[in-house]
Amino acid sequence: MKCPACQHNGTRVVDSRPIDEMKSIRRRRECESCSYRFTTFEKVEEMPLIVVKKDGSREEFSREKVLRGLIRACEKRPVSLEVLEEVVFNIEKDLRRAGNPEVKSEEVGELVMNRLASIDEVAYVRFASVYRQFKDITVFIDELKDLLNKSPEDKKID
Ligand SMILES: [Zn+2]
Repeated sequence: MKCPACQHNGTRVVDSRPIDEMKSIRRRRECESCSYRFTTFEKVEEMPLIVVKKDGSREEFSREKVLRGLIRACEKRPVSLEVLEEVVFNIEKDLRRAGNPEVKSEEVGELVMNRLASIDEVAYVRFASVYRQFKDITVFIDELKDLLNKSPEDKKID
């Protein structure tokens, strides 16, 4: 990095500390030539994650929106907010790890359902029913059948 004072191409870091929950680092630098001190910030670039809805419209992935849906599905169920926040965190992690800047809303829904299924069956069925909007009642019945046939042992634990 060039010194802003004398343009010398060599500086050393005299101090660095993480800020903003470790998402960025503040560095104090000193020019090796004129000893001028200045500060730089290093920040992780967060890629936008776009959700493509069924009608083709797009919106940015919203943690809040997914969390709100989960809270609604888990109403009066013994599931803590902490657990739900972790679900949202993991879903976003999965989506980002896949590396596509655009994901279909169905993919997000499937991820939510998969995670919810291993947490609370009632919440899962609620979410699945709202999510699929009863467009296909047989799908909903299949989901229920699957749940009833599943023994607790082969339930997916992630
Ligand atoms: Zn300098």
